[in-house]
Amino acid sequence: MIYEYMKHMENKQFFIKTFGCQMNQRDSEIMAQSLSRFGYVEGMDIKDADLIILNTCSIRAKAEQKVMSLLGYLRKTKEKRPDMKICVAGCVAQQEGKSIIDRMPHVDLIIGTQNIYQIGEYLLAAEDGKHRVVTQMEDNYQIPRFLPNIPFSADSADAEKAAFQFSRFVTIMQGCNNYCTYCVVPYTRGREVSRMAKDIVDEVTLLVQSGVKEITLLGQNVNSYGRTNEVCPDNSSYNFSKLLRQVSSIEGLERLRFTTSNPKDLTDELIACFKDVDNLCPQFHLPVQSGSDNVLKAMNRKYSIAQYLQQVEKLREYCPTIALSTDMIIGFPGETDEDFEATMELLEKVKFHGSFSFKYSDRPGTRSSEFDNKVDETIKSERLARFQSRQDEISLERNEEFVGQEKQIMVEAIYEDSVKGRTATHHIVHVKGQVNTKVGAMLKVKINFAGQHSLKAELI
Ligand code: SF4
Repeated sequence: MIYEYMKHMENKQFFIKTFGCQMNQRDSEIMAQSLSRFGYVEGMDIKDADLIILNTCSIRAKAEQKVMSLLGYLRKTKEKRPDMKICVAGCVAQQEGKSIIDRMPHVDLIIGTQNIYQIGEYLLAAEDGKHRVVTQMEDNYQIPRFLPNIPFSADSADAEKAAFQFSRFVTIMQGCNNYCTYCVVPYTRGREVSRMAKDIVDEVTLLVQSGVKEITLLGQNVNSYGRTNEVCPDNSSYNFSKLLRQVSSIEGLERLRFTTSNPKDLTDELIACFKDVDNLCPQFHLPVQSGSDNVLKAMNRKYSIAQYLQQVEKLREYCPTIALSTDMIIGFPGETDEDFEATMELLEKVKFHGSFSFKYSDRPGTRSSEFDNKVDETIKSERLARFQSRQDEISLERNEEFVGQEKQIMVEAIYEDSVKGRTATHHIVHVKGQVNTKVGAMLKVKINFAGQHSLKAELI
């Protein structure tokens, strides 16, 4: 049956638009790889696609609004090309389910966060022209053993795609049990489940053997990997630090990263990895969300600023070159002027290399959306502007520390008169001039200029 379908689907093009985080990017790759089994090829243009997938994010209101406006735009496209299929996947799909089709009847398929691996089969079912909504979540969900169908060609004309061949994400867990009061993830991605260690190691090995040099291990809270289900039948104390060490020893892997971490689960064992795991990049994204203990309590984050600062100190003691970044929510319900000043104080103390900061916005279904002590929009905007402006100054100061230093960069794109690469600390570096190199190559450079968001360098 599937074989017949594959013949039928031959040469059909799909286009995936991904919203939100790296977890979603990886989910889009999984859907793309699944679809290739059904004869679909990835197209570069939404206008030529036979299948359009919007892989959505509901973590912020803005991303959700963008999905809805793109769906509105696609209504006309569907009128002109009724055979084209439209699929909404990801967190908005999980949360809104059938109500998306009620509002947007031109959508053919709604596919939830635990159902993406079977996208081909669900499309096959939707061939009869009827809508399909597949959003069931299982309590005892297990991440399927899923290995990528590679290799890929190393001479892609598209710079982003070419770099992607050398740097890949690997999912190690899904869902979250933490229930931070502002966050939809436990509802849209379900309970925390960790993938079997062997599946992860096999996937990384396969990727590295096919030429990948950099791996980022992905999960909503990687620090709690292996806590809720068995991940290694031979070792009941197997945890994220052990996984990190095992993956790091895969021959040929040059750079290893991970994201994201909740400080409440950060252990000394994991911090120690930054001291002695050679290919673990000296870069750590450790979301703090606020500088005030009162706000952290209201967010249900379960750590204090004193504990966070101790972790920062230890990380810098073990790895003095580490680049730290964070997430910050500004204007959480109940955030007073004093609370915000505590956030500014934390920024001065830690001097993060960079941060992602946002104004708090209510997300449907979250506990904080029902809090009645919301902060005025104008105040939120003023506080955010102040935070971001100071962060920009600090990022520049941090970047200036690199001037004069020699760094190794991995080449991500080659242009006529320059090369773009990335340091182990995740900084973008531009090297001027015609450079005889390849995407994925390692280059030794000397930093000679620092901007707020990138560095410039010369070849050594
Ligand atoms: S740790 Fe908190 S913010 Fe992160 S995914 Fe889980 S609930 Fe959301």
